[in-house]
Amino acid sequence: MNSCSAGWSLSAPVLFALLLCLGMLLMSLWVTRQRDFPGRNGFALLHFAAIWWVATAAAEMSAQAAACKIFWASMAWPGLVATPTFWALFLWQYVNSENKPLGRRGLAALSVMPLLAWLMALSNSWHGLFYLPDTGPVSAEPGAPVRYLHGPLFFLVSAYVYLLVMLSVGVVLRAAFLGQGRHRLHYVVFALLSAVPLAAHLAYVHYDWTVFGFDPTPMSFVFVLITFVVLIFAGRMFDLLPVAQHLLLKVLFDPVLVINSRQEVIEANPAALQLAAMKPGWQGQRLTDWPVYGQQLTDLLAQSVASATPPLLELQNPPRFFEVHRRLIERSARVGNFVLGQMLYLRDVTQPHLSELRLSQALAVSEERLRTISRLHEQVREQVLHDPLTGLFNRRYLDEFFAREQSRARREDSELVLALIDLDHFKILNDTHGHMVGDEVLRAVADFFETSLRSTDVVFRIGGEEFLLILTGLDVREALARVESLREQFSSSAIMTKAGPLTVRFSAGLANRRVHGEELDELMQAADAALYQAKREGRNRVLLASEKLPL
Ligand code: GH3
Ligand code: MG
Ligand code: MG
Repeated sequence: MNSCSAGWSLSAPVLFALLLCLGMLLMSLWVTRQRDFPGRNGFALLHFAAIWWVATAAAEMSAQAAACKIFWASMAWPGLVATPTFWALFLWQYVNSENKPLGRRGLAALSVMPLLAWLMALSNSWHGLFYLPDTGPVSAEPGAPVRYLHGPLFFLVSAYVYLLVMLSVGVVLRAAFLGQGRHRLHYVVFALLSAVPLAAHLAYVHYDWTVFGFDPTPMSFVFVLITFVVLIFAGRMFDLLPVAQHLLLKVLFDPVLVINSRQEVIEANPAALQLAAMKPGWQGQRLTDWPVYGQQLTDLLAQSVASATPPLLELQNPPRFFEVHRRLIERSARVGNFVLGQMLYLRDVTQPHLSELRLSQALAVSEERLRTISRLHEQVREQVLHDPLTGLFNRRYLDEFFAREQSRARREDSELVLALIDLDHFKILNDTHGHMVGDEVLRAVADFFETSLRSTDVVFRIGGEEFLLILTGLDVREALARVESLREQFSSSAIMTKAGPLTVRFSAGLANRRVHGEELDELMQAADAALYQAKREGRNRVLLASEKLPL
């Protein structure tokens, strides 16, 4: 160290190197304050090693005495070996998306060789195996650069460094080979950058290529680091994608979990942790043991292998619904892909699902109301069109029904006969046995017609004890015979009433559309006239209306 008292010079290259150190220090502080990204730890260590290296190189350049220069060249070794070491570490972490900082043991292991190289260089005056004894300044000028002649220990350390650099290039080339598109380009640039210091070092050792008379390797590392930081600033190639993905998971309201093949949760975003109210130390716990949804989610995953639509995770208190989307995480191997685990994305569909439920409930209620309304409507229509005592169609329905039959008869030019029926002496029956018995008889008359008529004939109760038959498909003669047979049948059997068996008779008047007119009024009038005639002729008989109505 005494040799250093010979003086220092602050030349332009020294100033430049010092500025680089300061720049790198600021950059490293800035980089470490950035959001987490894979390899951040290695990247920071790499910076500090490079600063050490460039700072000692600056000291070597600045020193005037050759012995002092050699001392600082020896001091550079921990930084010189640590730089490619941490470079390799950074690339390894980066390529494998490793976020965990290097542990103490790992750091100690990686520091062995830099420290050994340091010791070897510092102890060179005792063994002369690192720098050969002829090592000395290139000229007698004060501050002239030293020409180092390298011994076997130097080559041993160099071999280690080469090995590291080769490893780095190999790691990145492998990633480039496995990657695709932009990722591949990304890794190719990494590999090229990794090769720059190697090339500089080879040029220095084997071709005596120097910058300001010094080893260009530290400068080339600085160049590489600056390129990286520029890439970070430009936001293009560096770890923007993984960082963005990580951030996305962090801010995502939907829970995301990554489980390995043993169903242990190895990654979970804040939303997933919050939903399960998980405490720190959750890593590695089995999904089944997760509170709130672990068991249910495991069951869903077991069931839904073949299902096309994502299964629904339903949680109670408060009700929450999640669509479970899953992605297998596979690694391609020579013998085929094998599944490392899976990513589970729980899409929160609580709001749409609740709205859908409410909507379908509302829909069900209104459908039910609609059914009630149409049932009531049907009932009202039934009540309106039916006679409450006998259940037969009433006069109101007659108009509607007749209109249909009339147009059909016109269209098909078919027969249509009306038979107006009136019970004989019904007033007497009422007076004798009471109104209730009269009602019983009316119901029995209705039953009689309904059971004995053909399906194409229809009966109406159009007044107190007056009924109307509409007969289709029978000509007037057939209709007459039919009503006549009904009359005979009716009058020949007694009706069982509370007042005992009663024999009731009726008279009927018939009219048909071919003779008495197309309209209901005309037909009714003709039939009524025939009925009146039947009553006059002694009742209990069926008469066809005459062709001409009496005036
Ligand atoms: P005719 O042979 O001339 O027809 O004699 P009738 O006694 O049947 O005379 P009319 O047709 O004029 O009498 C109708 C009677 O029918 C009068 C009324 O007491 C009775 N009546 C009308 N509607 C009802 C009813 O809903 N229930 C009962 N029990 N009787 C009714
Ligand atoms: Mg009457
Ligand atoms: Mg009558």
